Amino acid sequence: MAPSSPHLPRHDGSALVVGGPTTVLDLGGLRIVSDPTFDAPGPHGYLTKTIGPAVTDAQLADTDVVLVSHDNHADNLDDSGRAFALAAPLLLTTTSGAERLGAPATGLAAWDTHTLTRPDGGDLTITAVPAMHGPEDGERDAEGEVNCQAIGFVLAGDGLPTVYISGDNASIRTVAEITRRIGRIDATVLHAGAARIPGKFRERPVSLDSVRAASAAAILGASVNLPVHYDGWAHFTEGRDAIKHAFDDAGLTSVLRVADHGTWLPLKP
Ligand SMILES: [Zn+2]
Repeated sequence: MAPSSPHLPRHDGSALVVGGPTTVLDLGGLRIVSDPTFDAPGPHGYLTKTIGPAVTDAQLADTDVVLVSHDNHADNLDDSGRAFALAAPLLLTTTSGAERLGAPATGLAAWDTHTLTRPDGGDLTITAVPAMHGPEDGERDAEGEVNCQAIGFVLAGDGLPTVYISGDNASIRTVAEITRRIGRIDATVLHAGAARIPGKFRERPVSLDSVRAASAAAILGASVNLPVHYDGWAHFTEGRDAIKHAFDDAGLTSVLRVADHGTWLPLKP
């Protein structure tokens, strides 16, 4: 990281997809990065990264908060993403992930909250929400989780759009539970792409597919929906065209926001 690297200019009230699941959200004067991945393309164990990041970790060194939906999978936290997360002033993740990552990671169980003071004087409350990382009848691990423990996040504060970041969630029932408990969601970052793992869960998706992403947007009533986690790795089975098609089939094109990675997208209509 060159010390002179200029930071990505702030764009408050907007979000930018870096690639894979990695998203920058500038909200209330805070810079938040979810599921950081900055490695160059190449193999990561049984996964293969195919596209590098649109924005470098050095450009995001001024990040205030890093959110990691789960640390277990390289497509959600790769090597440079891990170093980036551990260098951030605040790192929120699952309870088991916080133990694995070590200090300063803070673990949140579903429905736990963490509140920060914003530079603009208000608060930002981050709520961990459930995420089911595979089909509902999928094989449970020792902790009783499908695939592994994972969470999503809801970001909320006075005057800010309420934003849901799904994490690797494949369950529409979980999306419905979140909207029942949280209420109105203005904007979403949806891990779509229908990730499928050979030999696991009969190759059924471990994240939202395109149709379920459009359904999640409808259930949440969000007026801005950013799909992420649908390209940049070889195990995604549905891409941008499928997502556009699914939102169009549902009559929801007006709430879908897709752009080239590295492009700012407003979180309010
Ligand atoms: Zn995962």
